[in-house]
Amino acid sequence: MNEKNTEALYVKFPQLYKQHLLTPEESSMHWRFQCDNGWFEIIYDISVQLQKITSIQPIEATEVKQKWGSLRYRVNMDSPEIDKLIKHAEDRARVTCEACGARSVTRYICARWRIVLCANCAKKGRDCVPEKS
Ligand SMILES: [Zn+2]
Repeated sequence: MNEKNTEALYVKFPQLYKQHLLTPEESSMHWRFQCDNGWFEIIYDISVQLQKITSIQPIEATEVKQKWGSLRYRVNMDSPEIDKLIKHAEDRARVTCEACGARSVTRYICARWRIVLCANCAKKGRDCVPEKS
């Protein structure tokens, strides 16, 4: 994710994303948001929702990344409410172009990486072919 979007999330949700200040051994958030800008809105929305949850200890994201074309969002605790929010975000990411945020249901393999893209971004991409289902 680019600098501008990353900083926007840090500024708006300092508690949730404070682990970016930790070392790589302490938290995967050290590596920041490991996905492209098309998923910014999804991450922003789940951040808003997580912030509304009142819990005994503060909620902190421990890992946010794209893996095998899917969004992985992890926090330092779990509850049915949190699990539901994360599942919803992951479901949205499944049909959202990771590059531009457009709705897309096609996954592509681009230079051997599996990624959700819209047809336009796939055309611009590095040797992208639709994934065979
Ligand atoms: Zn796109």
